[in-house]
Amino acid sequence: MNNQNELIFNEADALLRMTLMGGQARVLLCRTTRLTQEAANIHQASDAATAAMGRLLSASAMLSCMIKEEQGSVTVTVAGDGAGGRMTVVGRGGQLKISVEHPQAELPASEEGRQDVAGFVGRHGKLTVIKDMGQGEPYIGITNLVSGELGMDFAEYFTMSEQTPSLVALGCLNQAGTVLSAGGILIQAMPGCEMSVIEELERREPFFRGISRELYDRSLRELAEFWFQGMELDILAEDPLTLQCDCSRERMARALRSLGAEDRADIAASGEDTVMACHFCRDEHRFTPDEVRALFADQPQEDGDALH
Ligand SMILES: [Zn+2]
Repeated sequence: MNNQNELIFNEADALLRMTLMGGQARVLLCRTTRLTQEAANIHQASDAATAAMGRLLSASAMLSCMIKEEQGSVTVTVAGDGAGGRMTVVGRGGQLKISVEHPQAELPASEEGRQDVAGFVGRHGKLTVIKDMGQGEPYIGITNLVSGELGMDFAEYFTMSEQTPSLVALGCLNQAGTVLSAGGILIQAMPGCEMSVIEELERREPFFRGISRELYDRSLRELAEFWFQGMELDILAEDPLTLQCDCSRERMARALRSLGAEDRADIAASGEDTVMACHFCRDEHRFTPDEVRALFADQPQEDGDALH
């Protein structure tokens, strides 16, 4: 057996934005292999959880990079009835973070080694996408899960909620704690797209089905040039993707201050350090009883309903 590192194709995680046929269709293609490995390590995830995270991170990266506003963000929540419980990704441009309710839930892989993503996510439930443009009301789109495999669920979301005919493929190739490859593709027909272009894209759909295997040993550009040969491929931009949490001690202090009166009384009475753990990066922030008392003491009066 080779050294595992030699097996992993070494291109950094990134997203390519492209158009086809003079803008009749747009394409996003991303690699999220390292992101997914880091997320799996942080959450000590089972193989099924890792496969689900790889797919969800890929779809979320594409949604996040579609938001043009610099202050914008996207929050994607998958709340299904599977073993993994609720999964949430928050993206700001190419920066992503992920939390999973039960990341250690184990599910057996199929005989061919396919991870049971639908069993982990659940076949019933909701996919919610909140796009915050940094000002004004956020856009909220909610659709029902249709398969739990995530690719079809996101295709349903784009088609129903954003009313854009879309082809989505997501994949993650992983086993025994190692992510070999993860990524995804989104192809959208723009208004005025000719039928012949849509038919041509449908003919090429089998290329994308095994996307994680395709991404395993080829660069994003190589794949795009191969898949979209003869379709006037125009690569507009390449965005780096990273797993990064923006939590801080101040943010945790704010969360502590927003607790209800009973919880606060319990914490104040316990006399022990209070440890707040971030759901996304699992970092722990420790507050001594004195620090907690000081935090509660500066509580502004308008929150006074909890102070009787
Ligand atoms: Zn964090």
